[in-house]
This record gives sequence, structure tokens and C-alpha cells, in this order.
Amino acid sequence: MNNFSNLKLFPLLIPEDQTLTKFSGFIQIYNKSFNFRISMKNPQKISTAKIQCNKELENLLIDSKEIISKRLKESENLNSFLLEFSQIIQQKIEPVLRNEINTSFQPKNPIYFQFLFDEINEIGWEKIQLIDENLSKIQINLKDSKNRTIPIFAQIPPEFPFAKPIIEAPFPVSFENDEEMEEENQQNTRNEKITKNQNYKGSFQKVINKITREFDKYQDLWDNLDDFDSNTCVIEPENPTLLEPSRKILFGKHCSIQIVFNIKFPRSVPSIKFFGSDPIILPLKELLKKDINKWDPKNLVRKNLEEILKIEFPKKTSSSLNDFGPECGICFGYQNDGKSPDIFCSNIQCARPFHNSCLYLYLKFQSSDEFGTIYGKCPYCSHEIQTTKPIDFQEKKQD
Ligand SMILES: [Zn+2]
Ligand SMILES: [Zn+2]
Repeated sequence: MNNFSNLKLFPLLIPEDQTLTKFSGFIQIYNKSFNFRISMKNPQKISTAKIQCNKELENLLIDSKEIISKRLKESENLNSFLLEFSQIIQQKIEPVLRNEINTSFQPKNPIYFQFLFDEINEIGWEKIQLIDENLSKIQINLKDSKNRTIPIFAQIPPEFPFAKPIIEAPFPVSFENDEEMEEENQQNTRNEKITKNQNYKGSFQKVINKITREFDKYQDLWDNLDDFDSNTCVIEPENPTLLEPSRKILFGKHCSIQIVFNIKFPRSVPSIKFFGSDPIILPLKELLKKDINKWDPKNLVRKNLEEILKIEFPKKTSSSLNDFGPECGICFGYQNDGKSPDIFCSNIQCARPFHNSCLYLYLKFQSSDEFGTIYGKCPYCSHEIQTTKPIDFQEKKQD
């Protein structure tokens, strides 16, 4: 068991059998986990190993094939190879992560900071919830008439103030095409310096005023979102805000329901999708279809759903999450490559959710794939379960 215990840095890689020549599972780098499998003819000779991984990792390592085969030849054992391998991934992933967090490490315009600080002074520092380390993204918390916090985000381009910030608000908004704003700017001495450039004609404060004036139109949507956030167990978005008009909520035995609100008519029938074991969710789908005419647009969406589906959505408690959590029964994670578990055990007593790729890898050890579909037994209750080969699951070979 030497090799196995050596893999303690990679606890999600599990040997497929006692020969310790094949390992599969996940490699986790930063907040990402990648499906990964390595197989060798002989555990002492890892230079002959073959690697399989998911599409995302494959794309990431597209130019690293040579270095990977070099490392395979040079590494003394599997563990030292995996360390090298994860460093290669790390180097590749860092720029991607940096890009995801912030797109601008570019040098900034010399008057950037002066203008930005003037803008923030005008807004009031107490409304600033967050400024990123590059001073290029700001979260401003606004309040509506019911004292609810509405976060808006300003992405400031490096050319600011000669280029316009991008504002992310609950509805589209921009610095452009606002005559009233332009008129006011002409009287504004501070901005006179830059009106010559004809680029930046707004001020944050005016955009904020414009956004706040729109808030009244969204009260009904926000009442509904608030009602879900305080009275149900919301699993998506992970940190729900009033910016996202959708909620995925958990209800009994690993099942969930996703609701996407109609923004214009928030109390009308939303778009509804069920996730869960068929024997549990099929009757609910039937009920919804049969009784949809009982939907009363005077009521909140949650109340309508509970009445039509004849269920009461559980509140967010640690026990509801522990017993009936939405996470995958194999990797115990919720998101894997951005996907939530979508295969469910059809034994109503079990109803466990699995990621397609996790279940596929698991079932592959038990049986072989027949025309893309693989059959086996649920790891929890041994009930028959099947899945298909994930589309992005490709074999990668190293010679
Ligand atoms: Zn999983
Ligand atoms: Zn099961």
C-alpha cells in the first residue's frame, strides 16, 4: 500500500484495484477540480503511464504535452510526477483565474485615481462595499424604499476618465445617451476639463440617481426573491442577491426546483425546472401541469407553488442540508466544471444525486460502456442506475 499512501496530497485520486497501476478521480487546483485518470503497466515504471482527463483540463494543457511526457520519463514515482503535473496545471490556470477575477492589470491613466477618488467622495464612502486590489472594480451598496440592499458594480477601465465605466445593475444602465446628464455636466466645473475629450460625460452619482429612480419598478420582483431567500433553502445562486432573478431551492430528499422569474410580471408563472429522482418529481410535474390554472397572480410565487404542488418548501437549516443535501454522492461537491449533479438514483428511498462524470467514472470500474450508456449499481443502495458518457469526457493518451 506504499504508493497509495503516497498519494495523500491527492486524496481524490483513488486506486481502481489492488495492483495500484490505475488511479482515477479528481485533481484539485485552487477552486477547480478536474476529472483525471492515470494508468500504468507497472507501478515502478511510470514513464509508460497513460493519462485521461476532462476537456477543460485537456484544453488547458494543450501546449504542455511535451513537458508532461518529459516529466513522466524523469519522475521517480507517481507522487513526484503528480506534484510536477499539478504545478504545470497551476501555472496554466493562474492567468485564467486572474482573468476571471479581473481583466485589467494594464497601467492606468495618471489622472485615474484623482477622478476615481472624487467620484467616491461624491457617492459617499459608506456606500462602498468593496474595492478590488487594482482599484478597478467597485461594489456600491444602494438601498431601496424598503431598506433592502441592492448591490451594483462598476468596472472602471484603465483609460478612465477618458473611457466610461461599465455598470452592472439589476437592469441595463449606461453613461450614454442621457441628455439631462450632459447638460448638467456642462455646468460642472470639475468635468469641464474632460468634456473636451467627449468621452466621459457622466458622474457616478448621477448614474446612481438614475438607477435608484428605477428601483420602484422592481419592488414586486424583489419581494418575491426576498420571500424565497428568507423562507426556503436556496442552493443557487450560492450567495443570492437581488440582482439574479432566479433561485434554485432544495425540497426534501435531494430534490430541487429552479425558478426563473418573469422580470416584467414577477407574480406570473415563472419558468420552472425540477431536479431529482423521477419517482419524486414526475408526480409534481403532473400536478403542476394539471393545476396551473389555479395560479393566482395576486399571491407570491412561493405560495402559488406550495399550493399547487401541495408541498411546503423547507427552510434553510443545517439538518435539511445534511440529510437531503444537493451535493454529488461521489465527489461530495455541488459544482463540478460548473455543473450541478443531474443524475439521480431512481430508488425513492435513496434518491441520491450524482454528477454525470463522477457516476460515469464510478460505473466504469464495475462494467463496460455499451453504445455510450453504462449500467451498474447505485453506490448507496445498489439499486440499478445508468448514465451516459459525458460529452466532454475524452481520453487523453501520452506515449
Ligand atoms: Zn461529483
Ligand atoms: Zn441509490
